[in-house]
Amino acid sequence: MVKVCCCWDDGVVNDIRLIELLRKYHAKATFNLNPGLLPEKRQTPAWMPAETGGGCNGFSNGHVGLHEIRDIYGDFQVASHGWVHMHAHQHSVEEFVKDAVDAKKYLEDVFQRECPGYAWPCGAYTPVVCRKLLEAGFAYGRTTEYTDFVGVTDAPMRLQSSCHYMNRQFAEKFRAAKASGNIFYFWGHSYEMMDCEGLWQQLEMKLAMLSADPEVRWIDIIDIVRPEK
Ligand SMILES: [Zn+2]
Repeated sequence: MVKVCCCWDDGVVNDIRLIELLRKYHAKATFNLNPGLLPEKRQTPAWMPAETGGGCNGFSNGHVGLHEIRDIYGDFQVASHGWVHMHAHQHSVEEFVKDAVDAKKYLEDVFQRECPGYAWPCGAYTPVVCRKLLEAGFAYGRTTEYTDFVGVTDAPMRLQSSCHYMNRQFAEKFRAAKASGNIFYFWGHSYEMMDCEGLWQQLEMKLAMLSADPEVRWIDIIDIVRPEK
């Protein structure tokens, strides 16, 4: 048996298509959201004019609407990614902790369940905010660092994953985790696939590979730090 999990950041419109794929392959996932950055109404994805640029390679995916997050993400886990995606090094500790906790409280209110996860915006953290967020009730904080030994840590606020979902060694890393009895954990942003069919097909092939393996057992990120009985 190999435990597999994934998480996705920022609450973008491509998450809707991603969720269809996750459902098709019976995959679990956690979505890390910034309620303070979500508009009332869903934004429209668009390729930006060359002179303005921006977005991901010029593709602006846009965010999902605040009013629809419960419908979109209700069957999956959601976690705080900060109210407005605050960078840990650029704000006071108090401001930063409030930003993280405000998003947690908001999500718990909307989804009517505990949302103990956190994903560090831009992967930035400090020892002080790690301690403060633990004290504030968070169970883990996902970094953007990688390890072959997911979950083997006494520092849940510095949780590392196996790889980004577009990592060229995705299959290799999965096989290595399986062979050594470790967890395979991948993450990313669905907007990185833009509206490029080839990139979506690549993700689908990865999910199909995982779901075709009878030894795969999908878990949620929270299960890494709070293993099921
Ligand atoms: Zn982010």
